[in-house]
Amino acid sequence: MPESTWEVVIGMEVHVQPRTRTKMFCGCAIGQLGDPPNSNVCEVCMGMPGVLPVINKAAVEACLKTALALDCEIPRHTKFDRKNYMYPDLPKGYQISQYDLPMSINGNLELGDRRVRIRRVHLEEDTGKLIHAGDKLHKAWESYVDLNRAGVPLMEIVSEPDLRSADEARDYAQGLRTLLRTIGASEAEMEKGQLRCEPNISIRRYGADDLGVKTELKNINSFRALHRAIQFEVARQVEVVESGGTVEQETRGWSEAEQRTFAQRSKELAEDYRYFPEPDLPPLELDRAWIEELRRALPELPAARRARLVSEYALPASDASQIAADRELADLFEAAAKAGADHKATANWIIGEVAPRGKLPTPAHLAELVTLVATGKITRDQGREVLGLSMDNGHSPAQIVAERGFAQISDESELRAIVESVIAGNPRAVEDYKAGKKQAIQALMADVRTRAPQANPKIASAILLELLK
Ligand SMILES: [Zn+2]
Repeated sequence: MPESTWEVVIGMEVHVQPRTRTKMFCGCAIGQLGDPPNSNVCEVCMGMPGVLPVINKAAVEACLKTALALDCEIPRHTKFDRKNYMYPDLPKGYQISQYDLPMSINGNLELGDRRVRIRRVHLEEDTGKLIHAGDKLHKAWESYVDLNRAGVPLMEIVSEPDLRSADEARDYAQGLRTLLRTIGASEAEMEKGQLRCEPNISIRRYGADDLGVKTELKNINSFRALHRAIQFEVARQVEVVESGGTVEQETRGWSEAEQRTFAQRSKELAEDYRYFPEPDLPPLELDRAWIEELRRALPELPAARRARLVSEYALPASDASQIAADRELADLFEAAAKAGADHKATANWIIGEVAPRGKLPTPAHLAELVTLVATGKITRDQGREVLGLSMDNGHSPAQIVAERGFAQISDESELRAIVESVIAGNPRAVEDYKAGKKQAIQALMADVRTRAPQANPKIASAILLELLK
């Protein structure tokens, strides 16, 4: 049976580290990846008896901003709960999280023309890390505990099962990252573990109302791995069901080396955690005036900006989506457009040339470059080179064109001489062209570019066609 018999249903849990200086319930610094083990710890995050946690206001603020940007409702009352379980990286024997009264509920994230419902955004704390050392030969295995991460704040953003493919799941995670960076709630750097994805995946026959049994993939920390892992898991579930088996409800990991998912443990039920209200923290009654202040202070969100790039600058929707997905690119686009550059040409340069370089020119330089190319002063190929030079040495594109003698040859008699030499030098291609192989023109134009990189391609190709008649 083909895979298209099956509908894929995905919900996502995303853990995001809010931008704060200190941990969730103590004054310890967040620290950096690579800090010596147990260098950012205190009695509270080490779980010593008799200590009391204190709520980090900056983390609450980041969580509320995120919730507001996701159009969530913020209930009046919220509280923290203990999630009890035993693991060596959790010295307290419980994690402080939020259970039945999360900080926010019922939001949504707009992705182009799709809307993904958000179930809740709540706050919790991260756990520590186990480090295993030793060697197989001597069987001297030892395990160490590093509590630098223990107590680091995390926002958990939970979606409804509204995603239908690996592509949509990746778009959702990327959209979320853009939103978090735009509002300044998190740097959301996946390679630093600041944004981790846990997709819940199930399949069902098209038209079925009931959800299939889901598996949850843990701690995926790149968009590429997210996409691959979901594709693998969907194919695996289809194979299990089509060969007469049943999908087990379980937690699975992703092996980057083997490019496959593997079973980790069967999923705990909520009652296994014996949640109860955290007795050492007061329930919070959120100040409505503060929330309204945070709402008013939100910057323009990516979905609104995407719509405005279309309405205000007449960009095609696909260009607007790509540019609005990165706040810095969007700022660059608008500043260059305001400096007088052609809007569509500026968008093309940003998507095709600036974004892949991972480094930004100044808006004034980009505007100047776009105009130099658009008005035919230099060719597009020269424009690419000028852009690189300008970003390296900081000189303006016009200055570089003058310094390096870049200028497009638009003089017709000069171009005619170049084209004549190309025709003389490529008898085979000329013969092919005359015999009806119209694509031979490409080879001849390529030779024009080799002999005279500055040749205006439009005029040169017109002369070429004329001479070949
Ligand atoms: Zn601490």
